[in-house]
Amino acid sequence: MLTGMQIAVIGGDARQLEIIRKLTELDAKLSLIGFEQLDHAFTGAVKEKMEEVDFLNMDAILLPVPGTNLEGQIETIFSNEKVYLTEDILLQTPGHCTIYSGISNPFLNGIIKNSKRNLVQLFERDDVAIYNSIPTVEGTIMMAIQHTDFTIHGSNVAVLGLGRVGMSVARTFHALGAKVKVGARKSEHLARITEMGVEPFHLNDVEKEVSSTDILINTIPHLIVSASVLSKLPAHTLIIDLASKPGGTDFRYAEKRGIKALLAPGLPGIVAPKSAGQILANVLSQLLQDELLKRKGKVQ
Ligand code: NAP
Repeated sequence: MLTGMQIAVIGGDARQLEIIRKLTELDAKLSLIGFEQLDHAFTGAVKEKMEEVDFLNMDAILLPVPGTNLEGQIETIFSNEKVYLTEDILLQTPGHCTIYSGISNPFLNGIIKNSKRNLVQLFERDDVAIYNSIPTVEGTIMMAIQHTDFTIHGSNVAVLGLGRVGMSVARTFHALGAKVKVGARKSEHLARITEMGVEPFHLNDVEKEVSSTDILINTIPHLIVSASVLSKLPAHTLIIDLASKPGGTDFRYAEKRGIKALLAPGLPGIVAPKSAGQILANVLSQLLQDELLKRKGKVQ
């Protein structure tokens, strides 16, 4: 339970609603900022404007997945108001106040450092990344179906990277009957790819390995699908680039060659916002309960 915990939920999209639902069920007291256009009311949660919030007793601040932008503005789907997080706001909070966000950026890192508060980036956690790979793969399948005129079954699929997303993508396309090969650079990854029953190749050989690819799925956040790789791809190849912006594809050259290349960020929030919200809600509620127990232990 989170009885007695005071939490500010600032901005965000439908995923935050699952978090709000879960935290109110656990008896936390919530200040909701950037939600005035939301019709639904939650027991234990009060909609407030930033300037009305009492941050003096705030135990935690929950930001949406992107955190803030580089000016400190927070995305608010359920509000027309511009909401900003500032160093001054963080300095009003007690020293133990923890800020939770999906990812961070230089602005957020800067105000966290100057205010000496603790930032938890949920998307850096393996559990969140692995759970999130499930809706990510479903979104990838949706895109592959929408943008091709052939079945996934029997097609040649090349996956670049065997991280948390790459592994789920490779496994699922393999299970759908595609002929999957996966490119990686670590020998333990090449061993795992072999164990999975799909074809491994070293990324050094990527140009040579992609010459008969129907669908290329990149998960590497680094320019890997370069002009020289693109020049070896068949013209009908569909590229789905899952890596975080700006992706790992030379999109300019892909367009020049007439290859369809799609950057596909944020698939979990698009194809399954409820599940994506529940993933975050479950991990967050556990972290907050651990934090509360730790603090109670220190006080006793
Ligand atoms: P991850 O577990 O860190 O995996 C990244 C993979 O990229 C690893 O196999 C890593 O190999 C490889 N890699 C990184 N830098 C490389 C380089 N310079 N050269 C060659 N290989 C390199 O990350 P993840 O959780 O799978 O996520 C992958 C990407 O997808 C991230 O950018 C993430 O933000 C994004 N993502 C997108 C969506 C979406 O909806 N589109 C959803 C979730 C995640 P090594 O181990 O050898 O470094």
